[in-house]
Amino acid sequence: MEFVSTRGGGRASFEDVLLGGPAADGGLFLPADWPAFSFAEIRELASVSYAEAAVRILLPFASGTFSAEELRIDASSAYASFSHRAVAPLRQLAPDLFLLELFHGPTFAFKDLALQLMARLFARALARRGRQATIIAATSGDTGSAAIAAFRGQPGLQVVVLHPKDRVSEMQRRQMTTVTDANVHNIAVEGDFDDTQAIVKQLFDDVEFSRRMNLTAVNSINLARILAQTVYYFTAAAALGAGEGRAVNFVVPTGNFGDVFAGEAAARMGLPVGRLVIATNVNDILVRALSTGEYGIAGAVQQTFSPSMDIQVASNFERALFEASGRDASWVRRVMMEFRSARRFPIPESVRANLRGRYIAEKSGESDTLDAIRHTWSGAGMIVDPHTAVGLGAYARLREQLDGPVVALATAHPAKFPDAILHAIGIRPQIPEALAKLPVLEEHCTWLPNSTSAVKKFVWECTGS
Ligand SMILES: *Cc1c(COP(=O)(O)O)cnc(C)c1O
Repeated sequence: MEFVSTRGGGRASFEDVLLGGPAADGGLFLPADWPAFSFAEIRELASVSYAEAAVRILLPFASGTFSAEELRIDASSAYASFSHRAVAPLRQLAPDLFLLELFHGPTFAFKDLALQLMARLFARALARRGRQATIIAATSGDTGSAAIAAFRGQPGLQVVVLHPKDRVSEMQRRQMTTVTDANVHNIAVEGDFDDTQAIVKQLFDDVEFSRRMNLTAVNSINLARILAQTVYYFTAAAALGAGEGRAVNFVVPTGNFGDVFAGEAAARMGLPVGRLVIATNVNDILVRALSTGEYGIAGAVQQTFSPSMDIQVASNFERALFEASGRDASWVRRVMMEFRSARRFPIPESVRANLRGRYIAEKSGESDTLDAIRHTWSGAGMIVDPHTAVGLGAYARLREQLDGPVVALATAHPAKFPDAILHAIGIRPQIPEALAKLPVLEEHCTWLPNSTSAVKKFVWECTGS
């Protein structure tokens, strides 16, 4: 399959998309056409393993780069690293409400679902090309540890992770900084997540540097990651009998818009999806965009109980805008330029109407999040993490607007955020062994100012160039 840029630039193969960053014109890749799955094919997913479902869904995108057999080997090994046999099990909370548990991977957040598989495909493609590469990731907390767990110790690869200093949870930080493999490099940037993401984008903008280092993005600007995330939308909907006349709604705790866009991608591939709920914390640029028709930065990023969603600039929204505008690449290019200078742009009514036909955006304030943790604990005896709780808070207010079954994505394990849980219900969640040992391990991390040139110099030196 071929891939196109949201800003109209040249075409690319699956291998280019997997190994590269943004498109050369600064846009984001999308498939030239969405493949279509029939209701019968979707129904069959309910009776195969998660790894096999991943192979069937990813094959149309990856064909030409990987064979079904190669995908099968890598998917089996990727999902064998999960502690739950179902990989992404559903748990019923109420007659029409289900939690989709996406935290059974090695780092206890949903980022593992895509990164464990991507790392294996990546190693395969690099070996074939006989190439080295530098993986670079900006993280609001969970992408960093998932990328490190997936790529640590791989020959020919350096992993550089930028996190905003003092803005990730202690557990999240220790998951990254206590890893001792020589190819892992942590940087704490004096700034917020948007600053780290901007630095990564600027490193890619320096074409000479990016080519010399073979820079690769594993943030959700990498389409391979989003495609891998469509798999659990399919398996969850198939398990609930989605098909003719039966659509499933999803509530998605949202930061960079990657995960919820995977829901749109699944719908475009034929999955019967009702509404996609974009659940944000008080960093609510997406809620404001859908309600006012203006996408604009309002002040600085605010720190919340759900740090992985403390984001203002939701990179992947560009993909949704491209689709909602009828793939109008020249319009997307224009508004992204406008956003760069003015930090805001208007969304035309026709585009906004398309977005509102698919998405509902709802914000949970800090007290809504704590309430949702409390209610789930008292009502269902379950402890949910604060990100999942942002989604459940939104659901509590929107349920009347949703027809049919609702799947709320549980994006992280509560043990990653023990302080928020303690604050909400006065109990410490049980800490899994892999996290419990972290506090006694030595941390490895370099502090750098919020400066692209400082980061560039660091990457240059740590990769031995
Ligand atoms: C990354 C993350 C999110 C947000 O996902 P996006 O794809 O950035 O919208 C939500 N919850 C948790 C726990 C995360 O790690």
